[in-house]
Amino acid sequence: MTITPLMPVYPRSLVRPVRGEGVYLYGEQGEKYLDFASGIAVNLLGHGHPHLTKAIQEQAATLIHVSNLYGSPQGEALAQRLVDATFADTVFFTNSGAEALECSIKTARRYHHHHGRPEKNVLITFSNAFHGRTIGTISATNQEKLRDGFAPLLPGFTVVEFDNLEQAKAALTEHTAGFLLEPIQGEGGIRPGSKEFIQGLRRLCDENDLMLVFDEVQCGYGRTGKLFAYEHYDIEPDIMGVAKGIGGGFPMGACLATEKAAAGMVVGTHGSTYGGNPLAMAAGQAVLDVVNQTEFLDHVTRMGERLRGALEQMLPNHDHLFESVRGVGLMLGIRMKTDSRAFVGYLREQGILTVAAGDNVLRVLPPLVIEDEHVAEFVERLSDAARRYEMPQVAA
Ligand SMILES: *Cc1c(COP(=O)(O)O)cnc(C)c1O
Repeated sequence: MTITPLMPVYPRSLVRPVRGEGVYLYGEQGEKYLDFASGIAVNLLGHGHPHLTKAIQEQAATLIHVSNLYGSPQGEALAQRLVDATFADTVFFTNSGAEALECSIKTARRYHHHHGRPEKNVLITFSNAFHGRTIGTISATNQEKLRDGFAPLLPGFTVVEFDNLEQAKAALTEHTAGFLLEPIQGEGGIRPGSKEFIQGLRRLCDENDLMLVFDEVQCGYGRTGKLFAYEHYDIEPDIMGVAKGIGGGFPMGACLATEKAAAGMVVGTHGSTYGGNPLAMAAGQAVLDVVNQTEFLDHVTRMGERLRGALEQMLPNHDHLFESVRGVGLMLGIRMKTDSRAFVGYLREQGILTVAAGDNVLRVLPPLVIEDEHVAEFVERLSDAARRYEMPQVAA
């Protein structure tokens, strides 16, 4: 037997965290890491945040799980708060991002089915997108590394170039159900869609009675300095998948929709054993208590500006490695001139955690609770590491 007990689908690094405190993680031997990855945009409140920890502990001792066969005072309360805070009128809770997207895709298809147009079942999606690892969500992307070996994939998706409104418009047919996109792409390399593009898609949806479906699993929940990224574009989607930050590390997600968009989602059409369980709802409440505050979101914007400004000053000192910074708020990416994956690996050895992304980008996704001192520490240590970094040897 050579297979490892943990199915070997991840290239796991030597970082083996066993404890977290604020913006820092600690390994088995007490090694200390500055965590500017946040479990890939998940730990919004850092590690061991007292409000979140207490909420989970108290709810765990009260009631962890029942079933969606029963009334859910906990789910109703959190759904109401999300409805009050967003474009949405209704919420379905899931356990992950991919499930939030599955619900979003089903809601969009079901909308047209409900109105007697079952042939309108194709979502137009975009290059370099990431929507999760289920068969449905890998079918929605054109990324070969996600799809290879998993055929047959599902029909019902047409992929066009991201941020290209003309291509999106040209792809419309009588089968189009709507558009599905991350307004700011995460895994694809921290690429914000332009205002013209996003507003143009909204207009096409309005003109053709189509569903605008946003995947805000990574860019949502305060990450960009707004509760949701759509607020930067002065438009609203019809359906939105949310996860990652929503539980601050507790596994949960949500599909939000307007009343109009959810017209087809009637009793019996969808479900989840765990989705919306009382423990998840307590975590969700605690995170929202902190994140959905003007002062907190302003803090994210301010820290994002500081971090971006400091990076922009530092990058030219290492212009053999770094090209530019992009992104919004604390969802930042540094485009590299060398392999970003190798450099992210090197930073880990130096005790700094970041995440690689497509397009040779190093993602900087700190907890939203960072302070000036963490920005300064990160930029200083990144600069030191860049100075010491030997370019990987190219085979002769
Ligand atoms: C992480 C991510 C997902 C998938 O979330 P899981 O919880 O891993 O299923 C979907 N969409 C985007 C944009 C993501 O970043």
